[in-house]
Amino acid sequence: MPELPEVETTRRGVAPHVIGQQVAALHVYDRRLRWPVPRSLQKKIVGRTVDALDRRSKYLLFRFGEDTLLVHFGMTGSLRAYTHAPPRIAHDHVDIVLSSGITLRYHDPRRFGAILWVPRSVAAHPLLAALGPEPFDAACDAHYLWRATRRRRAAIKLALMDARLIVGVGNIYANEALFRAGIRPTIPAGSISQRRFQRLIDEVRATLTEAIAQGGSTLRDYVDSNGAPGYFQLTYFVYGREGLPCRVCRNAIKSVRLGGRATFYCPQCQR
Ligand SMILES: [Zn+2]
Repeated sequence: MPELPEVETTRRGVAPHVIGQQVAALHVYDRRLRWPVPRSLQKKIVGRTVDALDRRSKYLLFRFGEDTLLVHFGMTGSLRAYTHAPPRIAHDHVDIVLSSGITLRYHDPRRFGAILWVPRSVAAHPLLAALGPEPFDAACDAHYLWRATRRRRAAIKLALMDARLIVGVGNIYANEALFRAGIRPTIPAGSISQRRFQRLIDEVRATLTEAIAQGGSTLRDYVDSNGAPGYFQLTYFVYGREGLPCRVCRNAIKSVRLGGRATFYCPQCQR
């Protein structure tokens, strides 16, 4: 599933090819994504110019003046740019052709993604309105996280993955950041001190930054490449390492399920 680092890498890979470009044509080959690609999109988008390409949580936001084309990748979506678009393959659902001749192609085998047109304030859109702050926002600091979790008995890992508290911390990054911060994933969020939240937000940012930096090495794959950019394989401390020795203390990594998600921790390093 594309996580924040993959979406941010897509944004950086695609942005130079779309900003300042006019939409020359839109081709929708299959509307049946998570929500149907609106039939009116052609009329709304052709002739408009992309002013900016932003990201909010895992949404890509193509800015057209006050209006926005919102793209989400669901489970298996991806976006590529081509100077000469090759013949379509299975699951290529939408082409956006720009005035430069570049084609942006949306590919999504499982079709859980979304391409929606949002007039005016995209921040008020139901998909975005309830989202918490971005992990890199200055306001998303230890004091904010500490204050927001005082009455929460839910496990810290569940809180960390709750998009109303903070966006963009998926399962892998939650596991890894909690290890690096020395915090056991199962302890109640409300019992964590502000000092430990400082360590945690530092490690969330460091983990995401490393994944985004690794994505940087795949940026050229977004243009004129046949292979899909791979998932970013950090050297994980705990994720997927049940029973293997901890890279720090050599104790066996344990695994539990939290909220239905695989959760890994070191019983020695994480308290
Ligand atoms: Zn350990």
